[in-house]
Amino acid sequence: MVYLGIDIGGTGIKAALIDEQGRILHHSETPTRAADGAAAVLDRVEQLARAVMSRADSPVQGCGVGSAGRIDHRRGHVIFASGNLPGWTGLDLGPELSQRLGVPVVADNDVNAAATAEGWVGSAKGTADYLMMTLGTGVGGAVVIGGKLWRGARSGAGEVGHMALYPDGLPCNCGGRGCAEQYVSAKALTRRSNEALEKGHPFRGIREVLSAAERGPAARREAAKVGVERFTVDLALFLANLQNAFDPQVMIIGGGIVRLGYWWDRLLEATARECRPRSLSIRLKRAHCGPQAGVVGAARVAMLAQIKAGRAMAGAKRQE
Ligand SMILES: [Zn+2]
Repeated sequence: MVYLGIDIGGTGIKAALIDEQGRILHHSETPTRAADGAAAVLDRVEQLARAVMSRADSPVQGCGVGSAGRIDHRRGHVIFASGNLPGWTGLDLGPELSQRLGVPVVADNDVNAAATAEGWVGSAKGTADYLMMTLGTGVGGAVVIGGKLWRGARSGAGEVGHMALYPDGLPCNCGGRGCAEQYVSAKALTRRSNEALEKGHPFRGIREVLSAAERGPAARREAAKVGVERFTVDLALFLANLQNAFDPQVMIIGGGIVRLGYWWDRLLEATARECRPRSLSIRLKRAHCGPQAGVVGAARVAMLAQIKAGRAMAGAKRQE
């Protein structure tokens, strides 16, 4: 049996055919061009999904969509999406795509999808209680308890990036101040390294920062190290707070940054320093599924929804 997984982000749309073992059979992607508005983005999603579905050897059983934003997965409704996807708030994403594609569609938050993929075929395989954090432009989070996503009462669980680390700190696009994502996102690592750089051209991203920290010229190396130090110390405090709140078996860290060196060992050191006086124990793992986590996890969410619906139907039949 084959499922379609779709991942809609602020910069790219991905779609893939996924089999029951979590293998990617075919994959394609296209830019989101979010500024064109929700209708144009939906057209592009449909076009991409149709092209990918046409490569399937057997009928596509169902489709899962992971999207940025707060999603009511029961209705496939976007409760809130930030400015990265204009016009997305209020959209009936699941029903709309189901109508366009002619298959059942389940919609969920993109980090929930990524966490599902890690639990299925990735770093959290076989783990019942874990958190997933993605460090990118922002900080995304997902909570898995007893092997199931914990979505919260209003589909807002896991929005850990907007927990405050610094009261009265930097303003955030959520309307708050001092949010974690202003300090422990990949974007923040670049900014903080640039703040430590006295002269020379600024670092253009984490790749430059992390390679400078290891082998850059002295002044750049120093600035990059200071940036990484501030970033990892704050991230360790942030993770210790989450450990206290949820006591997961493991925390999975995702985002492009996990494929880069230097910072991970600094994070482990900072976390150990943070944990010792509190008698806390934190286990960190880098995400395994990489950029395809979203499509793999979205397909799995669709698969699980059908299994659950099948069980409910079988239960109802027994009752008759
Ligand atoms: Zn915020």
